[in-house]
This record gives sequence, C-alpha cells and structure tokens, in this order.
Amino acid sequence: MPAQQRDYYEILGVPRDASQAEIKKAYRRLAMQYHPDRNPSPDAEERFKEINRAYEVLSDPEKRAAYDRFGHAGVDGTAGAAGFEGFNPFEGFGDIFEAFFGGTRARRRQGPVRGADLRYTLELTFEEAAFGAEKEIEFQRHEVCSECRGRGTAPGTDLAVCPDCRGAGEIRRAATSIFGQFVNVSTCGRCGGEGRIIVTPCSRCRGTGRERVTRRLVVRIPPGVDTGSQIRLSGEGEAGLRGGPRGNLYVVVSVAPHPHFTRVEDHLLYELPLNIAQAALGTTVRIPKLDPAGGEIELEIPPGTQHGDEFVIRGEGVPRLRGPGRGDLVVRVAVVVPERLTDEQRHLLERLAETMGTPALPRRNGKKSFFERLRDAVAG
Ligand SMILES: [Zn+2]
Ligand SMILES: [Zn+2]
Repeated sequence: MPAQQRDYYEILGVPRDASQAEIKKAYRRLAMQYHPDRNPSPDAEERFKEINRAYEVLSDPEKRAAYDRFGHAGVDGTAGAAGFEGFNPFEGFGDIFEAFFGGTRARRRQGPVRGADLRYTLELTFEEAAFGAEKEIEFQRHEVCSECRGRGTAPGTDLAVCPDCRGAGEIRRAATSIFGQFVNVSTCGRCGGEGRIIVTPCSRCRGTGRERVTRRLVVRIPPGVDTGSQIRLSGEGEAGLRGGPRGNLYVVVSVAPHPHFTRVEDHLLYELPLNIAQAALGTTVRIPKLDPAGGEIELEIPPGTQHGDEFVIRGEGVPRLRGPGRGDLVVRVAVVVPERLTDEQRHLLERLAETMGTPALPRRNGKKSFFERLRDAVAG
C-alpha cells in the first residue's frame, strides 16, 4: 500500500517537532478538505484514509515515539491499521471521529436472541461405542430465571419506561461540527437500547433474567459411534435472551481403546501371535468376539501361514452407525520368533535347520492387506 509508506509528518504537512496542537489543527484542516462527502475528487478517499492514519499515529505519544524511532515498521500492525481494509470511516477509525465530532453509531434495539450452543465430551468404553448405550450426563447451563420468568423484575414489580430516552432506546442530539449541522444518534446508555429499565431487580437472578443450574439428561448413544461423533440434542443448550429459543447441546464422543481390538471405521483388527511351529504346521485358534455377551470365534490357521497374513471374518466388526449390519473382523498373523530357547528346543531347531536350506520369499502375488485395500477404496 503506497499510501501507508508516505511520511506521516509530510502527509499532515507539519514539521517533525510539531506540537500536539499543531498536529491536531493540521488534521482538522485536511480532514475537512478531503472528507469524501465533501470532496468529489476520486483520490480524496485515499487521501482521507492517509490523513487519518497519519493522525492516528502522530496524535498518540507512544505510537509517535515508535514511528520517530523505527518509521512505518514501528507502528504497522497497531490497532488502527486493520481498519484500512475497505473504506468505512465510521468503522475503521471511529475512535478519531468520535473524539472530534462526537457520537457513536446507534445500536439497533435488540429482539430475541437464540441461546448459545453447548458442547459436552462424553467418554465411552469401546463396547459402549460399538453397541450403543444410555448415559446420564450432568452439566451446567443457564435457564430462564424461575422466579421472574426471565423478565428480571422482582415479583409484583414491572419494567419502567427509561427516563433518559423516554422509551426510544436511542438519544438524538443536534450537533454542530466542522462539517456542518447534523443529528447525532446514539444508543441510550441507561437502558442499553431497550427503552425500558428494571426498577426493582429480581433477587434470584439480580435482574439478568437467567440463572445457572445443573442439568441432568439421559443421552441415548446409537450403536456404531466413534471418537468425534456428535449427537445433537436440540434445545438443550443455553437459554435464549428476550424470549429467543434455546441453543443446542452437542455431545461429542470420545472412545477408550480396547485391549485386543483396533477399530478402523466399522472394521476391527485383531493381531494374532503365532509361534513358528503353529505358523508352519497350522493350528486352530480362538479369537475373542466383540459382543455384549462375550464369546469366542474358532479359526482354522492353515499350514504355511506367513507373518502378516490376514483372515477376514465377515460381519464380526462394529455395527454400522448408518445402515444395517456390521463391519468385518480382520485377524492379522504376527509370527513370533522365540527370543530364548531351552536346551531341548535349541537341539530340535538345530536338527530342523540341517534339513532346511535358505528359504525363498513367500509368494504374495501382489496381494494387498485388508486395510490397504480399504484405504485404496476410500481414496479411490
Ligand atoms: Zn433509555
Ligand atoms: Zn429472576
């Protein structure tokens, strides 16, 4: 932005040792000259912004000192700089305008406001997430005050018309500035724009109309949720304001790990350790079942099973959150080579070794693992 690179003293046309009064005077004169409402020339707006930025820095002793020492780098990123995106003098440098010409933008009288949403993190066991559960949760939220029903007034008393604005919620004042006569509209400070004030506040909520209460709820968790799943409970969030609806409560699930199973979407992975004899000769193993009733699944391991081989047991995974059925249980073999041998085992293995040469790598036929295929399916 070239406008920000020009010297601020030069922009205001004052010497570097100018007093605050001189700076202020120069600003008034230039702001009046280049105000876009008064000056139709196309670059007036740009000049006006520049003038305001220069004044914002030079009128503030701290910012001015930083600018004197470090130049633009010393004051870039200060509060006012952000206001220079797009042009709106009443947004960007409202503080300067208010200081000079008075007034604030009038706030609209407020209507009903919806209550805020709440978030609750619910810890579940692996099984609860898989098969669903009913969980009681307890949390704090704002309710409409039970004493005054949200009005904020003590029982038997009423709101009164605000004496400052006579119920209008805003104060209008004719003012004269260097730009001429205008009407200055500002929100009434006494009633905050409501037009009405509480004379005798409710003792329970101290006039806020809301009270903090502990809420207990039973949440039904559907089968198949996972960490990050959200359950929305409509209208269980914070109470609204001025008759606005309640916000929602979002129950966010966090699932504890399982000692045997790893979950990938609706599928379960079970790592099955086999010794070298079991892998070579084949065996029958029992795999724990993920089931509320417990139980085991019998699995035949054929002779010659390799480390990393997978056996897919259909429909023994996690119940699907959306749609019927369950994912699969994938049993992945981990062949474990013994780290210590008895004398007898060593002897037997030595005899075995004499009969076996150097092995060739097992034929895999480029077969991908279950989870590799799953990843490909999701990505593809
Ligand atoms: Zn008022
Ligand atoms: Zn109350």
